[in-house]
Amino acid sequence: MQEIKLLYLYPDIMELYGDFGNIQVLKYRCEQRNIKLIIDEYSIGDDSPDFRSYDIVFAGGGADNEQSILSDDLMRHKEGIKEAVQSGTFFLLICGAYQLFGKYYKGVEGNIIPGLEVFDYYTEAQPDRRKRCIGNIVTKATLDGEDTEVIGFENHGGQTFNVDTPFGKVITGNGNKFEDKEEGFFQKNVIATYLHGPLLSKNPKVADYIIKYCLERKISEEKNSGKIELKKLDDTFEEKCRKQLLDKFVK
Ligand code: GLN
Repeated sequence: MQEIKLLYLYPDIMELYGDFGNIQVLKYRCEQRNIKLIIDEYSIGDDSPDFRSYDIVFAGGGADNEQSILSDDLMRHKEGIKEAVQSGTFFLLICGAYQLFGKYYKGVEGNIIPGLEVFDYYTEAQPDRRKRCIGNIVTKATLDGEDTEVIGFENHGGQTFNVDTPFGKVITGNGNKFEDKEEGFFQKNVIATYLHGPLLSKNPKVADYIIKYCLERKISEEKNSGKIELKKLDDTFEEKCRKQLLDKFVK
């Protein structure tokens, strides 16, 4: 049986609007294809994980307060995390976690929470805490050369600047900044996004992109090259749900 190993960072601190559902969707879509998803958790006080030994690292959203609680601990893993990103481990980062992988997060009071500096973007909140990007959002992303509408829910005060490779083009909603044209950050093995939802339950194609990436990476390590076709799943209900949401959100 094929296996995919996932590390869930700070499950007790970073989990908003059911972000954990992303892992459940990955697990379900793996199991339907006879792939075992092994889920390890790491939080403050646990032994340092070997990030590179994982196929996927996942971290969810969290408010400014939660981000500052874990900040010192996260910084201890700066090098390990950078190495894992460089070696091709897949990172799925939602909202607060997305922000913490950039240069820094500047909070409402002007306080700076340092970022891991894995990527060059940075995030600053508005001094007025009522100014937040809140609501349903639809973007268009291109995954493996195929365009797909990505549906989610955003709620962030932070405005993210200097993203050179965004995840999606905004169709409706805000995105990285108020009324932005772009949302999230993307590279082959990283999806960092403001989209809660959970993201993967509303967007099974994004889940399959991640699973396919992981399997192809494993195969290419063994055989030097690897392209695979994932077994198609019956997504009738998922597609019905998506159609209803798209009809509602995209006028
Ligand atoms: N603290 C961040 C902000 O408000 C992240 C919020 C979140 O993860 N939803 O910008």
